[in-house]
Amino acid sequence: MYLTCPGDDAKTEEMEWTNFRPSNVSYVMVSPGAKDNRLNLIVVKCPIHGHVVLAEGRVFQGDYIKQQGMQITKQNTLE
Ligand SMILES: [Zn+2]
Repeated sequence: MYLTCPGDDAKTEEMEWTNFRPSNVSYVMVSPGAKDNRLNLIVVKCPIHGHVVLAEGRVFQGDYIKQQGMQITKQNTLE
C-alpha cells in the first residue's frame, strides 16, 4: 500500500503482495542503477506531489521543497 500515492486516482492500492503488479506503483525511480555516493541524490519521486526520497534516506515533501526554495537539479540532486 505504500507504493501507491493516495492522490493517484489512476492507480489501485494493493493490499496483498500476491496481487501486486508494477502498474500499482505511483512513484518514479529517478536514478535507477546509480553508482553514486552523493547523499542528496534523488532516488524516488512522487510525480503528483513532488515528494522525494534521497539516497541518504531522508524524505522531503514537495511543498516543503518549494517553501524552502530548494531545487531539483538536472543531475537529480536536491540542492
Ligand atoms: Zn504523492
